[in-house]
Amino acid sequence: MRNKTLEYQWLHILCARGSGDDKDVQNLKRLAAGYAGDCEFDDWLSSYGRPHWRIFKDIWIDAGGTTQIDTLLVTGEGVYVFDVKNYSGALEYVDGKWFSGGKRLNKDIFIQLKRSMEKVNLMHYRMGRPGGLHSSIVFINEHNDVKIVDEVDVEVMMRNDIKRKIHKIADEENWNGSLDIEQVARGVETFIIPCPYKPRELEDAEFERLRSGICCAECSGFDVAVNRYHVRCGCGHVESKEKAVLRTICEYGVLRHDRELKINEIEKFLGKVVSRRRLTEILRKNFKLVAGGKYARYENPRAEYRQVFKTKKFRYEEKIS
Ligand SMILES: [Zn+2]
Repeated sequence: MRNKTLEYQWLHILCARGSGDDKDVQNLKRLAAGYAGDCEFDDWLSSYGRPHWRIFKDIWIDAGGTTQIDTLLVTGEGVYVFDVKNYSGALEYVDGKWFSGGKRLNKDIFIQLKRSMEKVNLMHYRMGRPGGLHSSIVFINEHNDVKIVDEVDVEVMMRNDIKRKIHKIADEENWNGSLDIEQVARGVETFIIPCPYKPRELEDAEFERLRSGICCAECSGFDVAVNRYHVRCGCGHVESKEKAVLRTICEYGVLRHDRELKINEIEKFLGKVVSRRRLTEILRKNFKLVAGGKYARYENPRAEYRQVFKTKKFRYEEKIS
């Protein structure tokens, strides 16, 4: 599983709860498309790559400056960096410029990757140059028609070529693979830093205007009836109540990433679907207590439910009709 960035999670929850302006909505769309493209490439790699390869997903490294990498692969032959682009529509590179539907793009996909690779190159050098270092731009979208008129010194992977290129990486490993993959991966890990960008902090007034209560995990609606052990949405989706509460606590944590989990705020945010006593129990069981008492605070994991609890099981999970 690939984690979503905090910014993506934050925007998603903000917009689902009725806030966010046009720019936020645009950004959310862009991040959702990027994330979907990255996940699709993950699937290609796991289908046609080798199980012993090490894959880093959405990492930030610091080597003479910071840079973000969508996918970094370590094989027995070397290190591969993939910059995945999930664009749809026509895209053209001519005279050193990018055009989309005749309109000039204000960013240069090739220069972005080259700048990023300057840092990756320095990292690779500081690691003692283990094997080869390769980078490519992957145009993953099946509705993307990319035409590159000029000669470029950047490796480009089109969707219809991904499988073959991954096989080529495997062949390359057969011929020239002699690296200790785990050792190289540990080397990469020493350069990884937390994402330096955080979403903005919500003002109390903006936070209080947000729609409270449990937001359906399936349809993002709020037509959710809360029963003793389950919550049931108008769309038909049923979820264990404890899970829905935990999931909502995590949503609060993402929205208010600038602070710890405050019990009073969470109680209000949940829309009183559980008693204060039950909420205290749930918080105590699942989060680290930072400060007790009437204004109790718990450690904020700053991530959505599925990332924090992954495979947690609940007693009342089974779907009831
Ligand atoms: Zn629903």
